[in-house]
Amino acid sequence: MKLLEGKVAIITGASRGIGKGIAESFVAHGAKVAFTYLSSEEKARALEAELSANGGEAKGFRSDASKFDEAQKLVEEVVAHFGTVDILINNAGITRDTLLMRMSEEQWDEVMEINLKSCFNLTKGVLRTMLKARSGSIINMSSVVGVKGNAGQANYAASKAGILGFTKSVAAELGSRNIRCNAIAPGFIETEMTGALDEKVVQEWREAIPLKRGGSPEDVANLAIFLASDMSAYITGQTINVDGGMLM
Ligand code: NAP
Repeated sequence: MKLLEGKVAIITGASRGIGKGIAESFVAHGAKVAFTYLSSEEKARALEAELSANGGEAKGFRSDASKFDEAQKLVEEVVAHFGTVDILINNAGITRDTLLMRMSEEQWDEVMEINLKSCFNLTKGVLRTMLKARSGSIINMSSVVGVKGNAGQANYAASKAGILGFTKSVAAELGSRNIRCNAIAPGFIETEMTGALDEKVVQEWREAIPLKRGGSPEDVANLAIFLASDMSAYITGQTINVDGGMLM
């Protein structure tokens, strides 16, 4: 059963990692996918070709999610290309980890702008189209770190906690127009973002997770499919963890 047949989705930051996993799963479920990236031009072109094979409809756009004007232009281009936007996944994100003692103003600002302001930028961008359609699903990628906090990640945790407040406010404001907004809080998902970590440390993390493994982009994509589809028509303003039981 294809759960997203004919729906148009914008996924930010999908040249690799979780975003790429979501883009692949969405196309497999019949969605038309517009995805963005910042610097991974080659990976983006390869993904566009992969997604477009076997009749899939997908297009990659170079667009900095932290820039308001670029986000508005992106949505205009997507609507011109695909006709509408039914689903927005605010996935683009970065880490600039360090202890607060050493954290620079630049490291704080960069994380807040790419992780949190991007959600405002893109959500503003799709609003008019979704209001007109009286329908839409917005999914924001938070983190268990946004729920719990984490030493060495004050900037990242603040940005991901900010996403939770934004998600609930958007859900409250737009529910009457049948626009839903939910957040996903992944735990430890094994991607390039985590690939740079020490293998011994990673193994210890796996051991500490009740399901005894790191998650995959597909684990997160499965929830994104559900939240984007009409199967979750009565679910809004929620944060759902995908973390193997890490946070209970
Ligand atoms: P990743 O592998 O590092 O990929 C990040 C993606 O975001 C890339 O496609 C990157 O594009 C894009 N990006 C970065 N800055 C951007 C910008 N300004 N505008 C547009 N795109 C931008 O990260 P990931 O592990 O898949 O994480 C994806 C999301 O899940 C992030 O929000 C992250 O915070 C969240 N998350 C991840 C984990 C985890 O364990 N991996 C856990 C909890 C939450 P380029 O390739 O062009 O740079």
